[in-house]
Amino acid sequence: MNPASSQPIAILGAGLTGLSAAWHLTRAGLRVMVFEAGPAPGGVIRSERNPEGWLVESGPNSMQETPAIAGLVRALGLEAVRLPAAPAAKNRYIVREGLLRALPASPPGFLRSDLFTLRTKYLLFKELFRIKQPRLSDLPLADFFREHFGQELLDYALDPFVSGIYAGDPARLSARHSFPALWKAEQEHGSLIRGMIAARRDKRTRGERTGPSPIISFTEGLASLPRALAAALPPESLRLGTPVQRITRSQDYWIVDAAPDLRFSHVIAALPPSALTRLHIGSPGSQASLASLEHLEQPPVTSLFLGYRRADVAHPLDGFGVLMPSKEKRSLLGVLFNSTLFPGRAPAGHIALTVMLGGLRNRELAAHPVEYQLPIIQRELAALLGVKGQPVFMARSHWPRAIPQYQLQHDSHLEVIHSAEKRFTGLHIGGPVCDGIGLPACVAAGERLARTVLNA
Ligand SMILES: Cc1cc2nc3c(=O)[nH]c(=O)nc-3n(C[C@H](O)[C@H](O)[C@H](O)COP(=O)(O)OP(=O)(O)OC[C@H]3O[C@@H](n4cnc5c(N)ncnc54)[C@H](O)[C@@H]3O)c2cc1C
Repeated sequence: MNPASSQPIAILGAGLTGLSAAWHLTRAGLRVMVFEAGPAPGGVIRSERNPEGWLVESGPNSMQETPAIAGLVRALGLEAVRLPAAPAAKNRYIVREGLLRALPASPPGFLRSDLFTLRTKYLLFKELFRIKQPRLSDLPLADFFREHFGQELLDYALDPFVSGIYAGDPARLSARHSFPALWKAEQEHGSLIRGMIAARRDKRTRGERTGPSPIISFTEGLASLPRALAAALPPESLRLGTPVQRITRSQDYWIVDAAPDLRFSHVIAALPPSALTRLHIGSPGSQASLASLEHLEQPPVTSLFLGYRRADVAHPLDGFGVLMPSKEKRSLLGVLFNSTLFPGRAPAGHIALTVMLGGLRNRELAAHPVEYQLPIIQRELAALLGVKGQPVFMARSHWPRAIPQYQLQHDSHLEVIHSAEKRFTGLHIGGPVCDGIGLPACVAAGERLARTVLNA
């Protein structure tokens, strides 16, 4: 695409996906107009500092700093406010038989750990020698994982991990779509462990970092990233409080109902699935509907940020947080130890926790008012962390449709998206609806969307 002669590109949604696309396109010399329904950029990312010193994250709390995110942090001049997770947060707890148990963090740690039985340790060793067998069709993630590592690792490692990331159920997620790296490792190596070793070796050969990406935030929370991306846009290219309902392809350009006097060469829809289902896409004589994305399941999640006096919590909170395996039948999905993870989130003498409720496991609980939820939370926190007394600060965020679940019928959702893109030249759809759900996936989705425009 020739930047000099081009019409601007319309980007719908100023969450991390849309802003990442805008960043890459403006860097390539193209003009963009970002339309955002809400009053601020960032979408689900919302960080707010309360006058007493509490820093509340209503949506995501941390992100993996992939090389692409590290590049953005550098390019946006955010290094001075970049906040890596504190070393004290390296423990990750799960609940087993009502007690907090640290997950082993390394292979020797796993062998020494009394969290898993000898049989599970043997299964893990045996998996190294699994031969490659072509798998022809997708299957539930739980079945896939059980085949490799057995039931105990599924119950006490994968299941809580899936609750923490997807607020989902491994028995309902698609192995191929929800964990594509594991799927690829099996296709190429048979063994997931051998696949991971090979991926590490390839990275080393390419001169890339081989360990896990650091977990980071910023001193004033994750919203610093979308705010900086929005501030880097040319003046007047972000329209807040401007929802788009209809996009129309006319001859060789696009019209967006929120700015009917402008012509756009391309439209990038970086919207949540629920907004995509309502978007009218058409041209004289042709319509595309994304209404069937309504069936892309997105269970509700409630996030409660709770502040306590340090003296009211017995547990040392020496970790990232604690996740609850479904088998343990607890009411919560997990608890983040915010003030351990990132210092500066609570006033002196206090600690901050974030409790996650709901997901596929307990939709009803997420929908209840806080007066109903709080006694349940207090009981759980007392039993697990020795919390006594009431919180001195609380902020509740309810997400009626939180995280898209890539389930076995996910191919049909991808097909609906791809056929709309094929039918309408210059339409590009991306983000958690099809590109992966975490913040690094959103940054990568924005880059992918920008590339498709640049290569058009
Ligand atoms: C509770 C919760 C916790 C999470 N925790 C983590 C975490 O810790 N780490 C992590 O990596 N990921 C986490 N995620 C996932 C991650 O936050 C999201 O996947 C990501 O922020 C989505 O970004 P996005 O830009 O694609 O979409 P969104 O952030 O949803 O942005 C889309 C934007 O489009 C706007 N919009 C909607 N309709 C219209 C319209 N008609 N016209 C114009 N604009 C419109 C919306 O207002 C919104 O600003 C979490 C998600 C949730 C819900």
